[in-house]
Amino acid sequence: MYARISCVSALRNISSECARTSFHAVLFLLGYSNLKPSLIIHGGAWNIPDEAVPDCRTGIRRSLEAGWKVLAGSGSAIDAVEAAIIALEDDPTFDAGFGSHLNRDGHVQLDAILMDGETLKAGAVAAVEHIKNPIRLARLVLEISEHMMLVATGAEKFAVENGLPLSAPEELIHPRERVAWQRCLEDSHAAEHHVGHEQGTVGAVAIDREGNLVAGTSTGGTCCKYPGRVGDSPLIGCGCYADAEAGGVSCTGHGEGIMKIVMAKMAIDLLHDQRVLAPHREKGIPTSIAQAVADACVRKLAHRAHTTGGLILLDSNGHPAAAFNTPRMAYGYVEPDGSFRIAP
Ligand code: ASP
Repeated sequence: MYARISCVSALRNISSECARTSFHAVLFLLGYSNLKPSLIIHGGAWNIPDEAVPDCRTGIRRSLEAGWKVLAGSGSAIDAVEAAIIALEDDPTFDAGFGSHLNRDGHVQLDAILMDGETLKAGAVAAVEHIKNPIRLARLVLEISEHMMLVATGAEKFAVENGLPLSAPEELIHPRERVAWQRCLEDSHAAEHHVGHEQGTVGAVAIDREGNLVAGTSTGGTCCKYPGRVGDSPLIGCGCYADAEAGGVSCTGHGEGIMKIVMAKMAIDLLHDQRVLAPHREKGIPTSIAQAVADACVRKLAHRAHTTGGLILLDSNGHPAAAFNTPRMAYGYVEPDGSFRIAP
């Protein structure tokens, strides 16, 4: 069974789209279309204090359960990523959806992106204030809009026109965040005003049994951000990228730094051109290509953008990797035997 899967995975990397399509058609006719699904998710890279670890772990587990239920039931990668991210958006432990940080004006402004690795089309929304689950709206943009990114009132108009209800802004605000925002205004923005909830962008990458690869990211952005500020998260190539020929990535951390190095696309380019990593690997460091790529991206973030963050990725064969230069990152993935690996 495993030999068949790795053979299928290796063949799956045949680069031309034509070869890919006919290859899948042949597999389907032969009854071999059941590739092994894969899933990795994150809930942000930051200085997670000990007292916040249990909530982070519970949230990561719930998200893995939501996404894996879809994939294990032969559902699609896009449904799995959406389900995993909705679980994280609805959990106030994380800085996405309900419980997000407030901006300078005291509003929650949300950003999200979903990207399809086969078509390279993305759907992204930014600075929305009336959308409970922005990843749902990002999916609508991906699937039915001719555009790839809609912002603010235009994005919300598109939501209404396509049957996604608007929510009252207060529904997105957790009392804890209101208190933290008040303290930041009276004093200055500081991590200690956000005890246990300093950061927490969320993301997911999945491959389904048909070999479809999808990545997504959702965030409330940074606390006390200037109204209208958009970070890396919803920007294609910065906070997220997916290319079925290489892999899928979701990033977290200091958005202005991640944008400088276009980190998600950097990871995909490294996966494409693994020779770049050969010297690093020849030094005998026992790590997978996927992990070497993730490590290289975080090294570059520190070295060139002088800041902190992290990323998760799946290569096109479903190998997971996570890297970060913050004290901790909340993330989890599904092992080949179906068990969940959760950090911190
Ligand atoms: N990258 C997000 C932003 O800058 C924040 C985070 O990941 O914590 O909006």
